[in-house]
Amino acid sequence: MIVETNIQEVKKRENSLLIIKKIIQSDGRNQLFDITGLSGGFLLNDDDLKLLETYVGPAIFEDQLLQMGKKHLGGEKVLGLNRTSSGILATILALVRPGSYLVHYLPKLPSHPSIPRSCELVGANYIEFDNLENFFIPDDTSLIVITGSTMDHQVINVEEFKQIIIKAKSHSKSSDGGVPVLVDDASGARLRTVIFNQPTAIELGADLVVTSTDKLMDGPRGGLMSGSEGLMNEIKSKAHQFGLEAQPPLVAGMVRALESFNPKNLLNSLEKKHELNKSLNSKFKGFEETPTGVMISPDVLKSQIEEKGIKTSLSASDISFAWAMILLKDHGILTIPAVGMPGASPTVRFDLAAKDAKILDLDELTDLILNSLKTLLKVVDDPEKCKNIIFN
Ligand SMILES: *Cc1c(COP(=O)(O)O)cnc(C)c1O
Repeated sequence: MIVETNIQEVKKRENSLLIIKKIIQSDGRNQLFDITGLSGGFLLNDDDLKLLETYVGPAIFEDQLLQMGKKHLGGEKVLGLNRTSSGILATILALVRPGSYLVHYLPKLPSHPSIPRSCELVGANYIEFDNLENFFIPDDTSLIVITGSTMDHQVINVEEFKQIIIKAKSHSKSSDGGVPVLVDDASGARLRTVIFNQPTAIELGADLVVTSTDKLMDGPRGGLMSGSEGLMNEIKSKAHQFGLEAQPPLVAGMVRALESFNPKNLLNSLEKKHELNKSLNSKFKGFEETPTGVMISPDVLKSQIEEKGIKTSLSASDISFAWAMILLKDHGILTIPAVGMPGASPTVRFDLAAKDAKILDLDELTDLILNSLKTLLKVVDDPEKCKNIIFN
């Protein structure tokens, strides 16, 4: 494997950031096309900037975040966090006892790594399911997590969501009858509701929900959490003890992003994705639609390459990483495998709801993607070359 350890993932990311810097310095920001769907944004105005002080900032912006966060997610009490991962960690630190179980249900494996990693940190047992038939809740369970939409935008079926809630609420072995449910709705808080017309996590009966303010909305990378007052008080206290809470500039950015959130932007990407998927598949098979774009899974990409008679010793994820680096270096197209944090999905996904996706017309984007695949086919049988492409 070329990219195997967390440290190698960080090295790959550092290489990508250097490439991005070079593109921006030589060609300008508009020659970089960030279609990760996580472009972030900071819609602050001049008056906001004067109020970003240590204590003034929270006084002003946390109350606004409460109002806007309740509108977006429901719930009684809202907390801004440095990242969604920080919200997951704070919740597990606050609610999960050492030696007890955390049960995770998600529409499709794999889980976001922050959930099992946080369990490891507190010494809790982590079990996960992507199939309702096998799902069960051990007696000593502290927390149930439902992922509303995975890293690859696989969205949960709403009936399954309801079933898990019923099982959690009726679990009688815990002292107060029922186990608290946290929904990891990083992208789901918008994908599930806007594209799939599902109710919010809180409306579906969850106690807690966390979402990423840079996923499918124009906010800074951060975690926005809401839920019942009692649980949120415990989580907020843990977050402050370990420095996981969002600082004033982040909170202000979240408030302005929530104010400007417009579901229409997501809905507009729907038609375009059918077209892109069709034109890509006519030249290179294996692309599939996501809720707001297209993707090709690493395993499918590898098998498509092998079907063309090209032999490669690279793992599926390494092929995906090499392709993401070619997309970035040769064409300025930024996707998650190039810049993701360790453990992020290796799937190359083109998100048409991203701001920059509107700059490129679909024919242009199709050509760039197909050209990058041609380059990949030329180097994929040579592990040394691919290693150079990934790490420089
Ligand atoms: C993106 C994502 C996270 C983590 O968000 P960060 O801001 O990177 O911490 C967690 N869970 C899921 C399902 C995600 O898609």
